[in-house]
Amino acid sequence: MRQPDDLCLLCCDSKASQKESHIIPKFLGKGLFHDTKPHHSILWHKGGKRQKVQDIIKEDYIFCAKCEKSLSVLETYCALRLERFDNVRYFKDFVLYKEGDFEFVECKDINIKVFNLFIYSVVWRVSISNNIGFSKFKLPDKEEEELRLILKDFLKPTQTDLFSEIERLNILPNHRHVLIRPKKKLRPPTSMLSAASPNEWLNQLHLVDYLMFYITQQDKMIENLRRIDNNRLSGLVRIGLSEQKIWKEFNFAMIKEAIH
Ligand SMILES: [Zn+2]
Repeated sequence: MRQPDDLCLLCCDSKASQKESHIIPKFLGKGLFHDTKPHHSILWHKGGKRQKVQDIIKEDYIFCAKCEKSLSVLETYCALRLERFDNVRYFKDFVLYKEGDFEFVECKDINIKVFNLFIYSVVWRVSISNNIGFSKFKLPDKEEEELRLILKDFLKPTQTDLFSEIERLNILPNHRHVLIRPKKKLRPPTSMLSAASPNEWLNQLHLVDYLMFYITQQDKMIENLRRIDNNRLSGLVRIGLSEQKIWKEFNFAMIKEAIH
């Protein structure tokens, strides 16, 4: 168990005074609790063990106040803009592309560098988490530390400072990552929260309404998905889109696998 006197896992400078820090940003997991009374969800463990969870996974004494605030600045910026895809009023902020069966959207209003920090922050937190639900997800130590150093260097507790700092971000880790979501969110979501690293280089995060593949060896990503790889310093953020039917089938297959 971590204690309030332990050092913050992100900056390693200040005391980890914060309680109930989110591992996964709230907006990425909130669909999981849709329409359940009382508010709850089921966390599946390998082997079929089930655990009722009241809220998305939180941990105590992992961050200092400044790092906690900096992570929330990043999240607020990205959450607001990603979620606008579901709001017709923001239609102009997105450009849709369709190439055969492959569909994706470009987000005109999201800074690609900030978005990369956001993805790193989620992947890094899941990798360092001690929660049993995330025990199957782990980046190699070297890659985990590389992400921590970038986050420590560039995260700032205000959006203005974050944007001025990010100007000097000119090198990214040699990774790839893609984010895929259903074209229209499903409610109830018929999906679950799960995280796994099936091998040394592939890390999968299933965040209810989003599916993320995070790859630490660039050449391993298949050609098709490279078109929506966002591990770039320029261009627009691309989000892969899935038909509801395919999304549902994929989710059922995952749930089936998780309980066998
Ligand atoms: Zn800190």
